[in-house]
Amino acid sequence: MKKILITGAAGFLGSHLSDRFVKEGYKVIGMDNFITGDMKNISHLKNNPNFEFINHDVTEYIKIEGDLDYILHFASPASPIDYLKIPIQTLKVGSLGTHNLLGLAKAKKARMLIASTSEVYGDPLVHPQTEDYYGNVNTIGPRGVYDEAKRFQESITMAYHRFHGLETRIVRIFNTYGPRMRLNDGRVIPAFMGQALRGEDLTVFGDGSQTRSFCYVDDQVEGIYRLLLSDYVEPVNIGNPHEISIKDFAEEIIKLTGTNQKIIYKDLPVNDPMQRQPDITLAKKLLGWEPKVDRAEGMKITYNYFKNLTEDELYKSEHKDFTSYINK
Ligand code: NAD
Ligand code: UDP
Repeated sequence: MKKILITGAAGFLGSHLSDRFVKEGYKVIGMDNFITGDMKNISHLKNNPNFEFINHDVTEYIKIEGDLDYILHFASPASPIDYLKIPIQTLKVGSLGTHNLLGLAKAKKARMLIASTSEVYGDPLVHPQTEDYYGNVNTIGPRGVYDEAKRFQESITMAYHRFHGLETRIVRIFNTYGPRMRLNDGRVIPAFMGQALRGEDLTVFGDGSQTRSFCYVDDQVEGIYRLLLSDYVEPVNIGNPHEISIKDFAEEIIKLTGTNQKIIYKDLPVNDPMQRQPDITLAKKLLGWEPKVDRAEGMKITYNYFKNLTEDELYKSEHKDFTSYINK
């Protein structure tokens, strides 16, 4: 039985990846320190003999008994509000955490895949974004802590590959959504859905002309699964190229939820990318992968998930309290 360590397992993507690898017959070790994650996302795996959970901060030395075949490094704050609130932890998990995991992968002769992001392209000047575009990132802006952590993560991963011959994979994930996103993480989909469900106006930042391209989580997981098992070392974009402006997206959400909310406009966050759309030619050619779930279908499933949250969860709109982690 192949053994895989998944960091960030109590988060949105990490929990879906844990499900997928358990389903594929792997022994999964999930690791998380809950800074942005939630035990609820993996509670259904608790009694599964092929799932083990370790509560650990990956920026500290990591000890795993026995063999390990694969590592998926998905631990990192991932929403702009999260990484603005915990900037140092964001930098540390991308740098120190990645270094620890690469060291572990080397010791165990394991293959390691890192979760990179479209944010390495910054506010892109090339459209759509291909993997050979170097990006347009403001290193000292508020988003720089995330973007540069992810860029460093790619560099150190390639260095371990080139210098130590470690087997590595890099996925550049574009905006992905689905059940188990945190309602109050500030990302646009949970934000709009929470607002619609609470009967609040939808907050569009800027004039809403900025674009994003949203990928449903099952498609993302399939792309990551195929990339891990491929023999390709350089970064691969995984995302859905179907692009939409945030204003049009807000209108879609109002139609989907059947609510009569108004759209209200708020300031655009600093360095908010104006356009984002993956070029997935490489993933198609290399992995035979392309997204299968269109936005209408994916949003319906996601809305049903949010609709079934308890009143308590729905109205607990305050952002997560990070105090205990910050004072550590
Ligand atoms: P998430 O916040 O739901 O999950 C991240 C998980 O990592 C959380 O459970 C958190 O507690 C854990 N974590 C953070 N720091 C840790 C540490 N030091 N030690 C142990 N655990 C730690 O976010 P997500 O959307 O699931 O993102 C997962 C990964 O995918 C991140 O690396 C993110 O950068 C990347 N990514 C996600 C998207 C997306 O659209 N969801 C897009 C691009 C990249
Ligand atoms: N956004 C918005 N209203 C919100 C939350 C986000 O208009 O309540 C915008 C945000 O400014 C960005 C886009 O939606 O242009 C996507 O934001 P998100 O935080 O989901 O991810 P990003 O792609 O910026 O990392």
